[in-house]
Amino acid sequence: MTIGGAPAPAAEAFGVVNPTSGEVFAECPSASSDQLDEAVRAARRAFEDWRRTPDETRQAALDEAATLLEEHAEPMARLLTLEQGKPLNGLGSRFELGGAAAWTRATAALTVAEEVLQDNDAGKIVLKKKPLGVVGSITPWNFPLMIAIWHVMPALRAGNTVVIKPSPYTPFTTLRLVELLNEALPPGVVNVVTGGDDLGKRMSAHPDIDKMVFTGSIAAGRSVMRSSADTLKRLTLELGGNDAGIVLPDADPAAIAEGLFWGAFINSGQTCAALKRLYVPDALYGDVCDALAGFASTVRVGDGLDEESMLGPVQNERQFDKLRGLVDDAKRTGGTVLCGGEPMDRSGYFYPVTVIADLADDAALVVEEQFGPALPVLGYTDLDDAVARANASTNGLGGSVWSPNVAQAADVGERLECGTVWVNKHGAIQPNAPFGGIKQSGFGVEFAQQGLDEYFYGQVLFR
Ligand code: NAD
Repeated sequence: MTIGGAPAPAAEAFGVVNPTSGEVFAECPSASSDQLDEAVRAARRAFEDWRRTPDETRQAALDEAATLLEEHAEPMARLLTLEQGKPLNGLGSRFELGGAAAWTRATAALTVAEEVLQDNDAGKIVLKKKPLGVVGSITPWNFPLMIAIWHVMPALRAGNTVVIKPSPYTPFTTLRLVELLNEALPPGVVNVVTGGDDLGKRMSAHPDIDKMVFTGSIAAGRSVMRSSADTLKRLTLELGGNDAGIVLPDADPAAIAEGLFWGAFINSGQTCAALKRLYVPDALYGDVCDALAGFASTVRVGDGLDEESMLGPVQNERQFDKLRGLVDDAKRTGGTVLCGGEPMDRSGYFYPVTVIADLADDAALVVEEQFGPALPVLGYTDLDDAVARANASTNGLGGSVWSPNVAQAADVGERLECGTVWVNKHGAIQPNAPFGGIKQSGFGVEFAQQGLDEYFYGQVLFR
């Protein structure tokens, strides 16, 4: 770990499994409570200078961090594949490293400006932006590096200091990231502690952390909110999704198959804003199912270190078992398996791309977030009914509408209850567009000016 700018070994360790083999491939330090306190103290000390550091210096530090990420991209990508399973190629580890550097630069380029609310004979009123203090960051295992960047960079740019805790399933790229960041930043500005869910709970309850930024499951998000209540921490919660896509009757199944496929199966479906339920008009149902299953047969699933692989294994055994249970239940309850449907016959947590037709709306695979490579395709007769079914979820992260008539698709999209809507694509994110969920997918946004603003408090100055 890195605490106060120095390496921090731990007395205890836990094994981390490579999902490609299903075997432990390395030991990770397990932070004690004292080490968490030490990390928070280091961040608090560093905050005194960092909050007063000129913004241009902070910008330059982020740019330097981006350069370091670019220089170390290939070994970092390999480490990411080892711990996460995703392929080096396709929308995999190299893509994630590229995104991490690009997001860091984009965050460096944002503007931090005070706002003059009034300036007249009656006086001047200025809205200042002030950093909050110590930010605690907790990240999941699906995009461990990218999500760490999304938390850490805006927090730093705004003048906060950070203690980050990665998922115990994928701790190593974050440990390495923080090591690298400490080459560009003063000691204590970014600290990393590793450990299990209890460590996350202690962070959320910690009296000297001012804000938590959490990305993970809805259940853990609720727990973070509960643990944070006594200290009334600011929160950004990016939680689970069960995104719906609606194909309109004028769509061409062959033309949309590839976009639908990657919208659903990016990172083996282990993506918060992936397409997780697809609604298709009855007249196109067979053709869309065939086109999806046909495209799936062209995509190679295999060892992430193999340059030919486009998708890797499911990341961990718990997720693998959950996925298998959902697909088995779908088969028992009348689902038709169009491709996949059984674990692959090899070591590790490999599950093939699976498309399932003919399920009822109350099937577990439709209602729950599968977070894996299995997509239910559901038919509809009436568009209003499809919109109502898409919205009949406690989640509200993203949604998509598919049609050559973009204006009409956008109109339907606006009726979806979610934080982001896409036309003829699903899951696209950019550093210049805020991203976040509604309903139980969380609150607060990341990216762009609006995302940066979550790391300030506003101080109103009358003078
Ligand atoms: P998870 O909630 O199990 O774990 C995420 C992190 O939270 C880990 O670091 C874990 O150790 C920690 N944690 C677990 N319980 C905690 C508790 N009670 N208090 C504090 N910390 C705790 O999630 P996961 O399985 O790693 O990730 C998958 C989930 O993340 C999916 O639901 C997915 O949709 C969601 N996700 C959301 C977004 C988004 O931007 N909305 C992005 C990626 C992933």
